Amino acid sequence: MRTSLLALCAFLFAAQASAQTTIQRDPQLAKAVANVSSDSLRSYINKLVSFGTRHTMSSPTDPKRGIGAAREWVVQKFREFGKAAEGRMNAFVDTVTLQPDGRRVDAATLLGNAMGILKGTDPADDRVYIISGHIDSRVTDVMNRNAEAPGANDDGSGVAAVLECARVLSAMKFPATIFFVAVAGEEQSLLGSTYLANKAKAANWNIDAVLNNDIMGSNNSNETAIIDNTKLRVFSEAFSVQDTGRAFQNIRNLGLENDGRPRQLARYVKEVGERYVDNLQVMLIYRNDRFLRGGDHTSFVNKGYTAVRLTEMNENFNHQHQDLRTDKGVVYGDLPEFMDFEYLRKNTAVNLSVLASLASAPSVPQDVKVETRNLTNSTQLAWKVPKVGKPKGYYVLLRETTSAVWQKKFFTPETSISLPYSKDNYFFAVQAVSENGFESLMVVPTPAR
Ligand SMILES: [Zn+2]
Repeated sequence: MRTSLLALCAFLFAAQASAQTTIQRDPQLAKAVANVSSDSLRSYINKLVSFGTRHTMSSPTDPKRGIGAAREWVVQKFREFGKAAEGRMNAFVDTVTLQPDGRRVDAATLLGNAMGILKGTDPADDRVYIISGHIDSRVTDVMNRNAEAPGANDDGSGVAAVLECARVLSAMKFPATIFFVAVAGEEQSLLGSTYLANKAKAANWNIDAVLNNDIMGSNNSNETAIIDNTKLRVFSEAFSVQDTGRAFQNIRNLGLENDGRPRQLARYVKEVGERYVDNLQVMLIYRNDRFLRGGDHTSFVNKGYTAVRLTEMNENFNHQHQDLRTDKGVVYGDLPEFMDFEYLRKNTAVNLSVLASLASAPSVPQDVKVETRNLTNSTQLAWKVPKVGKPKGYYVLLRETTSAVWQKKFFTPETSISLPYSKDNYFFAVQAVSENGFESLMVVPTPAR
């Protein structure tokens, strides 16, 4: 009896563990993903390192050394890659003069974000998707603008991912617009991304998602000596700054503390990234960033935008924010020789598949509501068509309240659905899906009263 019970348990566990996921890749996007090259990524990083330092307060004008030369080079690459876009790519350095702030800026500084804007093909579609990395680098003393600061991984890796996505995606057409951005001033307190996020807010840009890539090309940890290039972390915050008053009451009442927009974006990154990139697991981390540390997505989430951070699984602090030196046989410094370009290729490919999917998809379904007028054990959802794009239908997503990821997808060509699952016991969301299978971000229903 006992043996058979154990056998039954083992069988049930095996059944659970072998639950199958259907992988359906769009052939064109799969081809683009295969085009992401570790050799290209390595060459961008070697070039970025060749500028000696990219400290935010290094020379803006020296043609060979410093951040000025580096950002000009990035813009030149955007222009070169943008030729394939036949006039849809616009590249420039977006500058602003910073005054000393008594903190991490001690002299008037010409801050410059390198921008490549791939304009969408649908004039009615004002959605913007942003991929960013930071171009600036640092050593142990954050104010030291003269020392060699290679910044190969922090954040040459993020900038290289931005460049590679620009190279591959420029040759493709998307209804929505994609911004390829290498911001400056990250190490001096997120100054370039704050400038860009403020600008976006003032101009009312319709930014649907921001993917911030910072430190994503090294596969090993110091101290714990873990070596693993099969996991990528995505950090997402629980609440938006806009979740105050009634919105916050709603989250408390409905138990939606894991269903904020950045967290949905993180789930999207996991699903689509793992769909297109082999031998890579996207790990959802339920916090905005690493413990007491920050990144450029924070400038966007602080303005209410949907932004996440993509970062390698294991950080090596011997190669981060370090003066180049050898001490007791340990080599310190952020050099390309400590990177894994195959790992960076996979992490870049996740970005590319997510950007291309979102920019190809219809916009989100509007006015997504769950019927609450009567007590029922089934769940009725209704929504309105997206503002832009022609959906072939919608996925209604379902998961248990303790599940981190969506577990079932119901397809419907209609704009409403009734499901025999209680809204008391499951979470729901709706996403629009295009003819080619590209999904919008998911929208959690609000009560219809
Ligand atoms: Zn960084």
